[in-house]
Amino acid sequence: MAKKPVNGGFFLNSDLKSLRGCDSVAGVRQGINPPNPYNKYSAEYIGEPPPTKLEVFEETSTKRIITKAFASDWEGGWRYTVNCYRGCVHGCTYCFARQYHEYLGYGAGTDFETKIVVKSNAPQLLRQELKKCRDKMPHLDFSFATDPYIALEAEYKLTRQCLEVCAEFRVPVGVITKSPLVTRDIDVLKRLRKVTVFFSLPFLTKEKSNPFEPYTPVPEARFRAMKTVADAGVEVGIGIAPVIPGYNESDIPGLLERAKDCGATRAFMSLLHLDTDSIEEYFVAKMHERLPPTRVNKIINTIKRERGGSLRHKTYNERMMGTTEQWEVTQKLFEFQARRLGFNARPNVSENGPDEAVAPVQEQRRLF
Ligand code: SF4
Repeated sequence: MAKKPVNGGFFLNSDLKSLRGCDSVAGVRQGINPPNPYNKYSAEYIGEPPPTKLEVFEETSTKRIITKAFASDWEGGWRYTVNCYRGCVHGCTYCFARQYHEYLGYGAGTDFETKIVVKSNAPQLLRQELKKCRDKMPHLDFSFATDPYIALEAEYKLTRQCLEVCAEFRVPVGVITKSPLVTRDIDVLKRLRKVTVFFSLPFLTKEKSNPFEPYTPVPEARFRAMKTVADAGVEVGIGIAPVIPGYNESDIPGLLERAKDCGATRAFMSLLHLDTDSIEEYFVAKMHERLPPTRVNKIINTIKRERGGSLRHKTYNERMMGTTEQWEVTQKLFEFQARRLGFNARPNVSENGPDEAVAPVQEQRRLF
C-alpha cells in the first residue's frame, strides 16, 4: 500500500514498553486499508497482506488541541472537543473517526488501529488555549476522534492531565469511552466543576460485540467500570451507538436495564452511519470476515432499507436518522424504556446558568 510519509514533527517511539498489551493483538492482524482518496497512488498486495504492528508516533508540532467540531442548536453555539491521540487501537469497524487518519496520509483500515499519533504537548496547549478562551468555552468533549482512554493513556496520562487543566479552569466536561481505564481518573473527575462520563455500549454480550468491536474491553468490563464511576458519585451515562439495523435493536432494553443497575442516569442512542467510501468498504469487508453470509446479507439489506437503497446517508442531516417505520419503532422502544427507567430526567441546563450545563443528550448523540 503506497503511503505518504508523515512530515516533520513526528518521531517513532521505539520504546515498546509503552505498548504492553497492544502489540500482541496488533501482531496477528494483517494490514488492510481501503485506498486513501487523498493519496495519488495506492497499491494492492499480491497474495496475503503483511501482518501489522503497532507503531506510536509522538507528535511534537501540534498547534491547537481544542477543535471546533460542529455547530449545534445547543445555546446557538458550537461543540468543542479535545483528543490527545489520533487513531484508536480499539478498532471498531464502524468508527467514523477512521476518515481522519486519511488526512495524515494513512489508511482508514488497520492503519487507523495500529498507527497511533500521540499529541504529547496536549495538556500544555490546552492550558494556553483556555487562558485565552475560557469565557467562550461552554463545555469540552473528550472523544470524537479517538477513545480518550486507549491503552497508551495508561503510560502517557495526557487525558488525565488535560482533565486536571479543565478542573483548574472550571470547564464542564463530557467524556465518552469504552475503556475501564477511566476509573483511574475518578479523583480528577470528582474535582471537575461538572462532568458526565458516557460509556459507549451498543451490544449486550461479548459475542454480539466481537464482530464489530474486536479489540475493545468486553461489555461486561464496561458495565463494571460504569458502576465504579457511578459509585464514586460521578454522573454516568450509556451511549447505545451505533444501532446497526438488523443486528442490535433487540439489545436496547437489556442495555438500558444493565446501565440503570450500574448507576447510569443519562442515555442516548444513534443510528449507524458510514461516512465515507473507505469506512463503508472496511466495515463490509470485516463483516464478511466475522459473520456468516446470511447474517451479513440481512444487515446489509436492512441498512439499505433505512438509507433508501444504499449503505450511506445522502445528506449530513440524514446521518443520524432512519427512514423506515422500523426505525421509528426502534426509537420508540428506546424512548419508552429510557423513560420507564428514569433516564435523562434531569434538565440539561441548571438554574445556575450555561456554565453549569451538561452536554445535552441530543448533542451527545451527534458526536456519534
Ligand atoms: S473506541 Fe471509539 S474512537 Fe475508538 S475505534 Fe471505537 S468508536 Fe472509534
